[in-house]
Amino acid sequence: MREMSKPVVEKVAIIGAGPGGLATAIALRKQGIDAHVYEKAREFRPVGTGLGLMPNGLRCLDAIQPGILNTLKISGCQLQRTTLKTTSGEIIRSTEHSIVAQKYGQQLLTIWWWRLQQILASFLPPDVIHLNYRCINFEQNENTVITHFENGKTVVADLLIGADGGNSVVRQKLIGDGQPQYLDTMSWRAVLDYNEELVPPDEAIMIKGEQSLFFIFNLGEGNMNWIAQKALSEASFSSTPAETKSHVVKEYANGNKLVEKVIEATNAERILETPICHILPLNQWSYGRVTLLGDAAHLMPPSSGQGANTTFEDAYELAECLGNFPDLETALSTYDQRRIQRTAIIQTRSTKGHKLQFSPPTQQTNQKSPQDFQEFQNWLYEYDPKSESRLKPWKEKVV
Ligand SMILES: Cc1cc2nc3c(=O)[nH]c(=O)nc-3n(C[C@H](O)[C@H](O)[C@H](O)COP(=O)(O)OP(=O)(O)OC[C@H]3O[C@@H](n4cnc5c(N)ncnc54)[C@H](O)[C@@H]3O)c2cc1C
Repeated sequence: MREMSKPVVEKVAIIGAGPGGLATAIALRKQGIDAHVYEKAREFRPVGTGLGLMPNGLRCLDAIQPGILNTLKISGCQLQRTTLKTTSGEIIRSTEHSIVAQKYGQQLLTIWWWRLQQILASFLPPDVIHLNYRCINFEQNENTVITHFENGKTVVADLLIGADGGNSVVRQKLIGDGQPQYLDTMSWRAVLDYNEELVPPDEAIMIKGEQSLFFIFNLGEGNMNWIAQKALSEASFSSTPAETKSHVVKEYANGNKLVEKVIEATNAERILETPICHILPLNQWSYGRVTLLGDAAHLMPPSSGQGANTTFEDAYELAECLGNFPDLETALSTYDQRRIQRTAIIQTRSTKGHKLQFSPPTQQTNQKSPQDFQEFQNWLYEYDPKSESRLKPWKEKVV
């Protein structure tokens, strides 16, 4: 790494004001780079549902914006345990999260996607976030990259970062790997007012049915969240919010009073119905003056809870590379090298774990050993921006 600290780019355009785009903008601006975020939404609204922030993601956020963890802890919820139950309510097992905190120094935190977005945005000057800017195309040459937006505007920058989520337009224009693949599972999610009679403040409840899962957990600030997932060989969508709600009641309640009450208390308009998809690991993210980050680069199913967490690792590493390497080509190839192998392994594991979770009971073979699980979790959660050991590879080869 070089000694002087003039970054290799001056102006950066980031597409997408999700957790990835905003965290990257904060990290780049701290390196003295004039980073701007372009978001297709016309306004920031209370959208999305809950996310789990894990030790690796939290450590990266703390390195990007010291002090942010206090704000996140106040706005989110620090879960103490997750209890796994059968559909008839018997406890299968209870996992204490204080062990994660003791071992990895960070307590698992749940938070609403929208609150996370608001908090990250609050660390940026308002005039660097441009709403109603839907990216539709870009072109690049040796010296510059020009991004085109649906509103007719164009932006010229030294670097374009596609942080525009799983259905990334930037990835399609850059790599053209097609739409994300459907993983034979649908998901329904909603945020509703917190009710202590339904879920304890510091506990997540997970109900395992045959080829289905239902989670309920507190999100903090008077909100709670449920997520239902079910194996379905073809993605199908309801035509009205009321139909979505009655579909979820029919599929999940099954006499389970807790699930029934939680869904009943939910405003049908707030239920998100989405297919669970992934993309196959890419072998290159950066081409010339354009690179990818977050779900745009490594969309994975939620089984490891790592989508947002690996995104914050990307944000930290990209800023480090742009701030510390002598030229753009070296900075971006180092970013690719630091991120692609790690995220490919997490993507592959998440997809395998997801398929296993939702396969018929007769096909639930090939479970990893507890030792393997523990070693993997250590490698995942011990990722620490302050330590060079974060760059050490995992023993497993991606096939
Ligand atoms: C059921 C479910 C549960 C999950 N649970 C977890 C969890 O527990 N923990 C976890 O870490 N992750 C979880 N995830 C994943 C997590 O939501 C994402 O990984 C994370 O939000 C990635 O951030 P991102 O900024 O890359 O993308 P996104 O959050 O998708 O943000 C992309 C942004 O880009 C904008 N955008 C899109 N296209 C354009 C365009 N053309 N022009 C301009 N703007 C554009 C979007 O409006 C959005 O604001 C879960 C996902 C699902 C489906």
